Order: sequence, then structure tokens, then C-alpha cells
Amino acid sequence: MTLDGDMYVRPGAGRQSEEQGSEQDGQRPNSKTELSRIEDAAERFLAALGVDLTTPGTVGTARRMARAYSELLTPIPFSATTFPNKEGYSELVLERRIPFTALCEHHFLPFSGHAYLGYLPAECVIGLSKLTRLVQFLARCPQVQERLTQQIADWLYERLRPRGVGVVVVAEHQCVAIRGVRASGTTTVTSALHGDLRTDWGQRREFFQLTGAVT
Ligand SMILES: [Zn+2]
Repeated sequence: MTLDGDMYVRPGAGRQSEEQGSEQDGQRPNSKTELSRIEDAAERFLAALGVDLTTPGTVGTARRMARAYSELLTPIPFSATTFPNKEGYSELVLERRIPFTALCEHHFLPFSGHAYLGYLPAECVIGLSKLTRLVQFLARCPQVQERLTQQIADWLYERLRPRGVGVVVVAEHQCVAIRGVRASGTTTVTSALHGDLRTDWGQRREFFQLTGAVT
């Protein structure tokens, strides 16, 4: 079985469906025309920075840049498959160290790291790989870490209807590491909790202990 509507609609984006295999959002930069518009803009951007785009190494840079940014901003649709919780499993389900990369909406530089997703099942459980797909889906738009963390938790709580949800995200931001304060190696930790994992202190403590994300 799949969750309600079989697809997730990102605010401001078009509907996406794995079965259809194609994006329906006219704003998504994946058509040839759109890619060439982005390439033109990248060319002007690089030229304004004083980059010589005629050398063997840079002649295709604007095109590669257009493709790279398009890829980082194109969510991969997925179907959130769920299964009935026949065994009545009631303890924590936790997926750790889910890797992701997103673009910080303030600087358009990447931030990347790992997400830890846990939930206390009720009527159904979700396919484990879907937790990874969910994180990577929500990461592929201009983001801030706080919002990404909350969106993951909200999605799981609203769609899966578990007894509780916990999310921890640990990431390094390139806009902090390579510019400004140039504090490379620092990480930012955010968390979002719903239901029993928010209100039951025992469950909450177990969740944070088992993530092992913060020592
Ligand atoms: Zn930033």
C-alpha cells in the first residue's frame, strides 16, 4: 500500500509521481529550453566574475554548472510504500546516518551531512528505503537546515500517523566553512519531535541515545 495520494506535493511545486516518471511542474528546470536559459545565465554570471570562458577547461563550464544546479534543485519523486503493522511492533524504528546534500537558500552553497529518522509505529510501518528517499526529496530545493528538519518530521507525522516522530539533522555548511568566518569542521545540529517522542521523557531520551548523533 502507499500513503495518501501516493505522492508528495511540495509547497510551491507541481505534483510528482513515480509512476508517471516525469516532472509535471513547469517551473522545474529540466527541459532543454530551461536548461539553455540557465546556461546563458550561468555564462553571464561567470563572465561578470571575470572568468575566462574560452579556455579548454572552461568552455563547457556554464553548461556543466547549469546541469549541476538543476540536479541539486530537482527532487526525485517517490512512492511512500507502507505495510500494515501486523506484529504490533511498538518500539522505536530508527534509520541512522541518511546522507544528504542541499543548497542553502542564503548563499546557494551546499550544506551536507546526515539525518536520523525515528518513529514509534501505530497502524503501519514504512519501507525503510523510503526514509532515505524522503530526506533526499525534501533536500532538493533551496533550503535552511531548520526548515528541512521540521519538514521531514511533519511529513512523517502527518502521512504515517505514528505515535511519535523524531528527527535529528547534523550538517556542515559550506557558507560557514569556506567564506565569512571560515569555520571549517563545525557542524550544525537540529532536531524536531512530535507525539510521544516529544512529550514522553523516557522515549525522548532513548531516541537521542540511540541516534548516537550527538555525544
Ligand atoms: Zn548559507
